[in-house]
Amino acid sequence: MQRLNTVLVCLTALALAPFAQAQNPAQSPDFAHNNTPIWPLSGTVLTAPELQAPEDFGKPVIFVNAGHGAPRNSGSLSLFCTWEMDHNLRVQDELAEHLEQTGLFTVVRGRHSEHRTSYASRLESLAASSAVLMVELHADVREGGTLWEPTPGVECVRNLGKTGFSVLFNDSATGALLEGRTTLARAVSAGLRDAGFRPYHGSDYEGAYQADIPGVWRDRRGLMMLRRPEIPSVIIETHNHQNPDEVARWAEPATRQAFYATVATALVSTLTADN
Ligand SMILES: [Zn+2]
Repeated sequence: MQRLNTVLVCLTALALAPFAQAQNPAQSPDFAHNNTPIWPLSGTVLTAPELQAPEDFGKPVIFVNAGHGAPRNSGSLSLFCTWEMDHNLRVQDELAEHLEQTGLFTVVRGRHSEHRTSYASRLESLAASSAVLMVELHADVREGGTLWEPTPGVECVRNLGKTGFSVLFNDSATGALLEGRTTLARAVSAGLRDAGFRPYHGSDYEGAYQADIPGVWRDRRGLMMLRRPEIPSVIIETHNHQNPDEVARWAEPATRQAFYATVATALVSTLTADN
């Protein structure tokens, strides 16, 4: 087995800058004890891995899916009251473009534009795609936030803690499928940590997910897109989109590019691993 990697998200950048500046880092629950800033505070730098693949790598098909955006399913609301499905679609499209531009992958997308797409139809598309790996993208929300008004008269939840990414997989399979799921999930998480992203500690996950390595969680909810595909699949919760610091960092192109490069490297390492 080789190396691992992953992550990402977005929103409107300019509108977020005041939050990163307004919060006193010394009061942040995510500020390190030795006064060294850690992700997602400003001053932390992400490092995108350099993509390398063997000459005989070929051009495998990857299924990239934006979570939610199904009929009557928009996902959660960010601290700016924007829908998660919109963030997920942006990340899906940017990741797909990044993977295609490497020349190493053919990408099939689970959602297209603003159209609502059922999960059943996505599974049909996946089965017909010849894809060998699937990555689904989400933004997370976590307990402990408080209401605030991003604009006068509009209330949403803002959470000053509980930052970080999560990678989810289903361990109910056997043999090569279980090996592939495990390898992909761990590759994405290890890559994200190497790049400088911080894994969520998971205090809200009890009963829903079981801890694996840092940043990786074994699904106990039976999520369809982790359970049903006959190829290895993972869900990446890119960040807590109710946390102002993390949303501000995800609005930076450099953050998203580091995430995409990490996912690309994790895909290569998974497909070249000795299972
Ligand atoms: Zn979601």
